[in-house]
Amino acid sequence: MDLTQGRSYLAIPGPSVMPEAVLRAMHRAAPNIYEGELIDLTYGLIPDLKMVAGTRHHVAIYIGNGHAAWEAALANVISRGEKVLVPASGRFGYGWSEIAEGLGAQTQIIDFGRQSPIDSERVADALAADTGHEIKAVLAVHVDTSTSARSDIAALRKAMDAVGHPALLMVDCIASLGCDRFEMDAWGVDVMVAASQKGLMVPPGLGFVFFNDKAAAVRESMPRVSRYWDWTPRANPEFYYQLFCGTAPTHHIYGLRAALDMIKAEGLEHIWARHEILARAIWAAVEAWGQDGPMRLNMADPAHRSHAVTSLHLGAPHGTVLRRWTQDQAGLTLGIGLGMSTDADPAGDGYFRFGHMGHVNAQMILGLLATVQSGLVALSIPHGPGGIEAASAVIAGA
Ligand SMILES: *Cc1c(COP(=O)(O)O)cnc(C)c1O
Repeated sequence: MDLTQGRSYLAIPGPSVMPEAVLRAMHRAAPNIYEGELIDLTYGLIPDLKMVAGTRHHVAIYIGNGHAAWEAALANVISRGEKVLVPASGRFGYGWSEIAEGLGAQTQIIDFGRQSPIDSERVADALAADTGHEIKAVLAVHVDTSTSARSDIAALRKAMDAVGHPALLMVDCIASLGCDRFEMDAWGVDVMVAASQKGLMVPPGLGFVFFNDKAAAVRESMPRVSRYWDWTPRANPEFYYQLFCGTAPTHHIYGLRAALDMIKAEGLEHIWARHEILARAIWAAVEAWGQDGPMRLNMADPAHRSHAVTSLHLGAPHGTVLRRWTQDQAGLTLGIGLGMSTDADPAGDGYFRFGHMGHVNAQMILGLLATVQSGLVALSIPHGPGGIEAASAVIAGA
């Protein structure tokens, strides 16, 4: 019997759950975009965004999704024909490199497969081999949302410095910002891209590009940057309309203000710790189920797992069948497997994902896990006992 009435839970890796405070802040008539509250509200977002990113440098805001932020970042520092190095730990590394190719860049991909983070030493080797310094930037994804691999960005910076290569370090934190620890300046990141609809808990529609002075200098040396993508007037506006190169994303501004207020009230350290504990509860349950059945965490080493998204293997067609069950019988929507197709499983039905980013607490994760276990029972998918007990122990011990 279908038991879906009640509040549903969209547990996919973005868009994430929106807090009531964000929804309420956005529920209003169109505001004046020429003067008044909206203007001050917008300028007030800037220091708080930088705080979340761990930078004292610059941020440009775009009306667009993560793909827009990818393109915006590249358009400011990469000219047609220039080379970028892309260490890929899943589908999203490829996605960013495709955007670079569309802008006319030459891409060199190092593929770390679907179950490994970026190996900084191999990136350093590739940079050391580039004696002519043709590589202008390294495009790294902090948390690849398809595999749930989390890479060590500070280590990547150290490895780049060790070979003395001048390439920019550009990092995609779309899945990780506001979930997994990230410190832009302390880790030596030159450019970072993020979007509104994951850890920032706002609807899709805002992209953010953070950049330091080294990246700003590269921008200044560019022969041409499209007027719309140019980050310079957005980051240093003389007039309000330059911030967005046109009409402001009015309602997103109100929503983001509410979300940043929540982030400041909780504090980044607490937010990072909360995501880690909830992730550990998930891992504990899955490991118990996997003791006597096919369920596996895609990332074997906890040190390389995201705290915001978890990619799981159950074997085709069980991943898709389980997702159907939790949605149709219990009001829980899980993420599809992404970038995980194989010859034996061309549609990637063997994989699925939990999104646990942003506005997520213990009861939601325990509900998610108990619902998944119910699905395993209902569908007679073999699994070990004790999954919920293992998760509860993590939550109880927090
Ligand atoms: C979601 C995501 C993107 C793409 O964002 P869109 O808003 O869907 O364009 C890019 N990179 C990562 C790591 C993501 O999680």
